[in-house]
Amino acid sequence: MTNPDWIVIHDATCGDLAWAIECRRCGAIQKVATPITIDCLAAFGKAFGKTHQHCKEPDRRGNQWECLTK
Ligand SMILES: [Zn+2]
Repeated sequence: MTNPDWIVIHDATCGDLAWAIECRRCGAIQKVATPITIDCLAAFGKAFGKTHQHCKEPDRRGNQWECLTK
């Protein structure tokens, strides 16, 4: 299963949010303990994505996701 595109996994360049998984719709953030393997992170991301796959987008909250440079 692929995560919906509002589920974001931050990479190591995101400072406080490094490796956190975030739902851009409801704003939930799940931090994971590091170091973590990519497999583990992917599993977390999947579970998180499942929880948030039906989230609705409340409104545009400006561009606060600028660390997402991919
Ligand atoms: Zn959500």
